[in-house]
Amino acid sequence: MRKELLILSGKGGTGKTSITAALAHLAAPSKIIADCDVDASDLHLILAPEIRSENDFISGTEAKIRRENCTACGECSAICQFDAIETDDEGIASVNGMACEGCAVCARFCPAEAITMHPCRCGQWFLSDTRFGPMVHSHLFPGEENSGKLVTLVKNQATQQAENLDKKLILVDGPPGIGCPVIASISGADLVLIVTEPTMSGLHDLERVIGLTTHFKVPAAVCLNKCDLNGNMAKAIERYCTDNGIEMIAAIPFDQAFTDAQVQGKAVTELQESGVSQTLEQMWFRLNDMLFSK
Ligand code: SF4
Ligand code: SF4
Repeated sequence: MRKELLILSGKGGTGKTSITAALAHLAAPSKIIADCDVDASDLHLILAPEIRSENDFISGTEAKIRRENCTACGECSAICQFDAIETDDEGIASVNGMACEGCAVCARFCPAEAITMHPCRCGQWFLSDTRFGPMVHSHLFPGEENSGKLVTLVKNQATQQAENLDKKLILVDGPPGIGCPVIASISGADLVLIVTEPTMSGLHDLERVIGLTTHFKVPAAVCLNKCDLNGNMAKAIERYCTDNGIEMIAAIPFDQAFTDAQVQGKAVTELQESGVSQTLEQMWFRLNDMLFSK
């Protein structure tokens, strides 16, 4: 049976992507990797994907003005609520694509019928090969805000690839935060691994993510990264997990090897001298058990 493991953190900077890369290294070859951190994707820096296919991400519409038909009446700039219409010295209008919300009001009211609506190319998504297996990833163009839809697209493509190639696991690097992209990434997940750190904000973010996984009835486990940073907060997070029936699956001490691995473009478990590899291996065995033993 195919399973989907999603790795989340309440915010950026907890080491989520480094841990995802280590899991991508440790997990059996029968998997697809999906990078759903679409706004600040950096898994590709470690996995160095070789792109096999490049595709447009089309979402929503935007207005375009046929300059030759524009009579410079000024109607469109007066009614656009998003200040997305610009005019040149002769009063001829053009659309600022970054500001256009695609409401189509200008197209409806242009007396010269010079404005038409067009699908908006908001980003790209890719099918790639990595040394740890196939990967689906993407990037959103600057200023675009449809990251929830792009997360869904990346996940759907990863599922399709897993079906085509008969892979047993989809390993998903999720977006930070708890907004729409995170909710989109939780849909269809069998288990969520939450990477947090022993700080007050780490505990607060953990509570918020657990709120989401509980709401969507997806089992969760916690990986406490840099667990030796603050002993009291580490205990508070452990207590929170116990009180809420959530397994703390690993406590990983601060290790310079994470930074060294990043600099070398490697997963930390690829470094021979890495002291955290054993802890990460044990975490993967437990995750594997939680995913596939039922
Ligand atoms: S409403 Fe139409 S004709 Fe008038 S300025 Fe805008 S594009 Fe030009
Ligand atoms: S489609 Fe809407 S937001 Fe875009 S330029 Fe026209 S009126 Fe403004």
